[in-house]
Amino acid sequence: MEEREHIKCLIIGTGPAGYTAAIYAARSDLHPVIYTGMEPGGQLTTTTDVDNFPGYPEGINGPAMMEDMKKQAERFGTDVRFGVITKVDFSESPHKIEVDNGKISLTADTVIIATGASAKWLGLESEQRIRNKGGGVSACAVCDGFFYKGKDVAIVGGGDTAAEEATYLAKLCRKVYMIVRKDHFRASKAMQHRVNSMENIEVLFEHVTEDVLGDNVVEGVKVKHTATGQVKDIPIDGFFVAIGHKPNTDIFKDYIDMDETGYIINKPDSAKTNVEGVFVAGDAADKIYRQAITAAGTGCMAALDAERYLAEKGD
Ligand code: NDP
Repeated sequence: MEEREHIKCLIIGTGPAGYTAAIYAARSDLHPVIYTGMEPGGQLTTTTDVDNFPGYPEGINGPAMMEDMKKQAERFGTDVRFGVITKVDFSESPHKIEVDNGKISLTADTVIIATGASAKWLGLESEQRIRNKGGGVSACAVCDGFFYKGKDVAIVGGGDTAAEEATYLAKLCRKVYMIVRKDHFRASKAMQHRVNSMENIEVLFEHVTEDVLGDNVVEGVKVKHTATGQVKDIPIDGFFVAIGHKPNTDIFKDYIDMDETGYIINKPDSAKTNVEGVFVAGDAADKIYRQAITAAGTGCMAALDAERYLAEKGD
């Protein structure tokens, strides 16, 4: 029979949800093993300053914060491993897991899914170039809006996230251009009212982004009216993209209940999924809040639920 390493508590993903779950699980003697995934440290490693995580009065940069969380998890004995979980079989307990396309095979009594979500981008060369330089391209207004206080910004998208973020930005910024590709919003009526109530939001319906202007930092945006073909440059300092997120949950879809986008459905007031012994934390199940602190909170919940599950089983 095939030899598989057995793990009491496997955590998949190393963002704030995964590391917080690891800290709690390690302190409860669950001897957690955590796999980093493709992007060790998660989405926060692609941001610069994090000013809204309690405990850092001067703020901290995203990668440094994730390194701190890693060290804290390791301090209690968490085994942090580089590798990507490529296949799972949750049809029976213990659960079966494959790492790096079958190079390593594991079984686990409990699994905490903390694989997060990835922001969708427009895919423009200028968007990614300036984003990689930390020059003012962002997919999170709540994280980065503060840096554009009193300045002009643009946000792309016509859904609830874009509407909510445009309203948030309008309270900080001088002017917000909202670039919507259709002639109507996708956002709910309530969100539309919020957008329409802000005098400093200008909605550009039927407009698409042709280019983000600037070498290292955002200087403007080139937009095109889809009906007339008219192109214009708008000077701005910050460029926000809010066209949706994709939860990183594809490998679980044969076993775990999800909504149509792939967000995992947890049982109310818990981190439990529909499969016994499998829990979820962070953005993989959260399309509304998507903050480091909320991810950390649900990471704690997942570890406590895993510990209780094992205790009830008598492990
Ligand atoms: P959505 O998928 O709902 O909306 C995405 C928006 O981006 C749409 O307007 C879409 O345009 C536009 N878009 C997509 N791709 C492109 C592109 N390449 N170029 C330009 N525009 C593009 O995503 P959201 O993140 O807004 O919301 C996700 C889910 O979360 C929804 O169910 C939403 O209701 C929910 N949510 C709820 C909140 C709340 O209740 N407070 C807050 C935030 C989100 P088009 O319409 O043309 O397809």
